[in-house]
Amino acid sequence: MAQLSNDCFAVGEAPMAIEEAVALIEQRVSVTVESEPVALGQADGRISAENICATGDLPPFNNAAVDGYAVRHALLAPGRETVLRLGARLAAGASAEGVLAGDGVVRIFTGAPMPRDAETVFMQEDVRVEGDHIVLPPGLKAGANCRLAGEDVPRGGLVIPEGRRLRPQDLALAAAVGCDALTVRRRLRVALFSTGDELTELGSPLRPGTIRDSNRVMLAALLRRIGVEVVDLGILRDDPATLPARLAAAAADHDLILTSGGVSAGEEDHVKAAVEAVGSLVFWRLAIRPGRPVAMGLIDHKPFVGLPGNPVAAYVTLLFVVRPLLARLAGETFVPPMAQPVRSAFTFRKRAGRREFLRVSLALGADGVIEARKFPKDGTGMLTSLTESDGLAELPDGAPIVSEGDIVGFYPHATLW
Ligand code: AMP
Ligand code: MG
Repeated sequence: MAQLSNDCFAVGEAPMAIEEAVALIEQRVSVTVESEPVALGQADGRISAENICATGDLPPFNNAAVDGYAVRHALLAPGRETVLRLGARLAAGASAEGVLAGDGVVRIFTGAPMPRDAETVFMQEDVRVEGDHIVLPPGLKAGANCRLAGEDVPRGGLVIPEGRRLRPQDLALAAAVGCDALTVRRRLRVALFSTGDELTELGSPLRPGTIRDSNRVMLAALLRRIGVEVVDLGILRDDPATLPARLAAAAADHDLILTSGGVSAGEEDHVKAAVEAVGSLVFWRLAIRPGRPVAMGLIDHKPFVGLPGNPVAAYVTLLFVVRPLLARLAGETFVPPMAQPVRSAFTFRKRAGRREFLRVSLALGADGVIEARKFPKDGTGMLTSLTESDGLAELPDGAPIVSEGDIVGFYPHATLW
């Protein structure tokens, strides 16, 4: 159950900074979902609900990092070649039990256990084989080309922290330490609505004055990419009489109610009032562009977010407001995306007091340095600005003018979801 307290509403006239909004979310919302067991092979993208520690050393035994010859380093003559007799042979998967290098070398292959008395491996490319003797060059350090037991993770070491969204490499590490199932958070269930009398369902003909509902399919796809179970509840009409009940009904069996459209200050924007009728608002305007009207509230103890209707604004606010909220609900340790510094190829005058995101593409400048070029059309309803750009450039709340050559923060679309 989400714990969204009702006290001290921040519903004021001044738009709220993104950080303040995210901090409010952190304060008011807590982990909402239960845990469930899942096989490791099914855990990609899920959020770990437990700390997984190594039950043994990783790697479990000292082993060769290359194909070659294992030797006790003390036998090597300093500064000149050493000739030693070839002894036993150890391939990957073999046991080194009872195998010793003694005064000779052991033929060894990558991943094979080291003989107990050898700690150094010569690469096969670096030696000369002369009958049953091996000529070893000087200069190799003790311990070279040998991987030590526990050097990756020592026994008891933390391999997966609780709250980690599991990536393929996490699964590999868990498997390597012998974990084959783990406890993860249940998937969040998000109720998704579009709002607007002008919206037409996909597959229906356009009547005069209507447009197709493009937000819902985008928002649903973005949410699914982060493992959310999306419950598509269709289009809500701009009808103050029915909106409150529809939103309240959705609160019953979902972890978050998400809408787009209808949250500005226009006469036909009824979502805000509907939320206030059946719940309460926490904030409704953010200092962010595109996306200033973003409503967040609580309906029957469940969080609600009303995104702006313009597609680019919906995209940006889903990323910067809903993404941290989902992480909080799901018990995910959220690592905000980090903007990469790139050189601006444009000059742009912005208003102070709000964060602004421009759609940009990367290209090589005349000097061979990567630079961000602004998409030529600014409109926040412009879907091609999302499909034809590489990502978002972030212009800070202050700094009213960005000039050509300045460094701006860049978020690639590809790494955001
Ligand atoms: P609103 O936030 O309701 O004032 O809508 C702002 C703009 O976004 C209007 O031009 C709407 O027609 C458009 N819009 C709202 N919802 C959607 C949607 N689901 N798909 C495409 N455009 C939308
Ligand atoms: Mg509308």
